[in-house]
Amino acid sequence: MFIGHFGAGLAAKKIDRRPSLGTLFLAAQWVDLLWPLFLLLGWENVKIEPGITAVTPLDFTHYPITHSLLGALLWSVLFGGVYYFFKKQPKTSLLLAGLVLSHWFLDLIVHRPDLPLVPWSSIRVGFGLWNSVIGTVIVEGLIFAGGAYLYLKATKAENTKGKVVLWSMLAFLAVVYFLNLFGSPPPNQEAIGIVGLSQWLIVAWGYWVDRNRSAVAQPGAAEIKA
Ligand SMILES: [Zn+2]
Repeated sequence: MFIGHFGAGLAAKKIDRRPSLGTLFLAAQWVDLLWPLFLLLGWENVKIEPGITAVTPLDFTHYPITHSLLGALLWSVLFGGVYYFFKKQPKTSLLLAGLVLSHWFLDLIVHRPDLPLVPWSSIRVGFGLWNSVIGTVIVEGLIFAGGAYLYLKATKAENTKGKVVLWSMLAFLAVVYFLNLFGSPPPNQEAIGIVGLSQWLIVAWGYWVDRNRSAVAQPGAAEIKA
């Protein structure tokens, strides 16, 4: 899953206006931000197997650190814990921890049974929505559009930049998603790692968006600056 995770990050702003969209993206996409790095280091592996699913040609052979349920759970606790240590905001820390963990469950919908429960187990799960292009686009598109809608409801642009930077980011994500769906398979694991690292730019883009938008007051709270 790709834009669905960003949809989760966008939606979380409706629950808590304090964290920047960049931080929400960082949490929702945390394990996929580490994954390309671990591929380049050779700690995790992926094979290119065109036709293995209708949507992606990637065969996720070995990714226990980022994509086992236990791994995701530990990252979630670590992420929320570090945030709490620096910010002392229990509610926001919990939300971010939940977002980190949400990644695994969203991946569970689309992946083949390749997600391990624990790193040392051969039990792997996945509902396999990636076997249907239409099904994937509908489900992931709805999560993304729903997230964008909630973010738009929770914030308002402070200036023209606040509109342009947001809408260009949403359009960029949608275009990259469709290019990925119909593009040719990547040549090798290294290329996947290098291209994957570029996702960090979207996190930066999220911070840029959020700096130019202010939070709409939550019910019962005074308007706060995002
Ligand atoms: Zn993932």
